[in-house]
Amino acid sequence: MSLGNLVIRPILKYGDSTLQQKASNVAAITPDIDRLIDDMIDTMYAAPGVGLAAPQIGVPFRIFVIDISIGRDPESLIIMVNPEFVSRDGMQLEEEGCLSVPGFEATVVRPMHAVVKGLDRNGREHEREGAGLLARAFQHEMDHLDGKLFIDHLRGIKRDVIVRRIRKLTRAGKW
Ligand SMILES: [Zn+2]
Repeated sequence: MSLGNLVIRPILKYGDSTLQQKASNVAAITPDIDRLIDDMIDTMYAAPGVGLAAPQIGVPFRIFVIDISIGRDPESLIIMVNPEFVSRDGMQLEEEGCLSVPGFEATVVRPMHAVVKGLDRNGREHEREGAGLLARAFQHEMDHLDGKLFIDHLRGIKRDVIVRRIRKLTRAGKW
């Protein structure tokens, strides 16, 4: 879908192999990468979601965007290219969902604090610190870059229930 300069890309769902791959580092911020970042931001806000990783729109690169204000506060938009954790500590247990697993939520263990460094869209190194929801979002999006979804953190019956429901939806052509 394209509305002027706004490009909303389809978001891949659980079951697509791109979501299970480890993504590659970006070699340079080319005009293509710059456009990809714009598309990711537009797609995240349109969903709407608090974060989006490039593999979710079918691009296996290590890039994510996060905005825990979902567009209300322009200062809170974070763009990370080739991100790495600087530190992680503490623990939180909260309900979590994912744009690639629509309609499902589960409680996942995440760090309470996290510091991530990476490149911004101009190729300059930057570092961001997050607590609570932002720390959770950092870990969730980093997981996407390693081919992991939140349901991969679930064990036993909790995971089985979700996977079985998704299979049913897939068979019915509703996934
Ligand atoms: Zn997700």
